[in-house]
Amino acid sequence: MWVFKVCLVGAFAVGKSSLARRFVSDVFSDRYLTTIGVRIEKRALEVDGASVRLAVWDIHGEDRFQSVDSLYLRGAAGIALVVDPTRPDTVQVATELSERARRAAPEAVQIVLLNKLDLRDDWRPEVETVVDTIGAEAVHRVSAKTGEGVEGSFDELTRSMLKRGR
Ligand code: GDP
Ligand code: MG
Repeated sequence: MWVFKVCLVGAFAVGKSSLARRFVSDVFSDRYLTTIGVRIEKRALEVDGASVRLAVWDIHGEDRFQSVDSLYLRGAAGIALVVDPTRPDTVQVATELSERARRAAPEAVQIVLLNKLDLRDDWRPEVETVVDTIGAEAVHRVSAKTGEGVEGSFDELTRSMLKRGR
């Protein structure tokens, strides 16, 4: 049995809590409840015949009032940098968090989740190219609302963490 800590980080309201809820409980709600501190949810899954338990750390948003403490990131095997492509400034936040995570959890696999795929018509085109400069292992297009891409991106992240862990 493998146990991995995965942190969801990003700017406020990019959809970190919605992605955690979609992945763990397969539900979505339109209500916006600010995350205070951190919420940890667990889910077991099978990937390539391996039994894995993920502890998903849904961490409060990074903004000018509060920053994500490196203590939350320590020990993570996976870091999901969540971006809302309708708001290009969320890429800059993800870039900063990527650097912080690299210091706090140097071994962690980093991926980018471009969330709100259901709003693709409102995505700003520059985001999809800028995001490559973060240097994450993968970039996934997902929607917490419809669920599209969510399961697949966590599967692939888990596969990468297994590869690194073995
Ligand atoms: P967090 O601050 O990053 O945890 O963001 P939340 O998960 O609380 O979501 C912020 C807002 O965006 C809420 O109103 C959500 O309903 C909405 N939201 C989150 N994910 C999606 C998505 O995939 N599509 C759409 N259309 N809205 C979303
Ligand atoms: Mg939240």
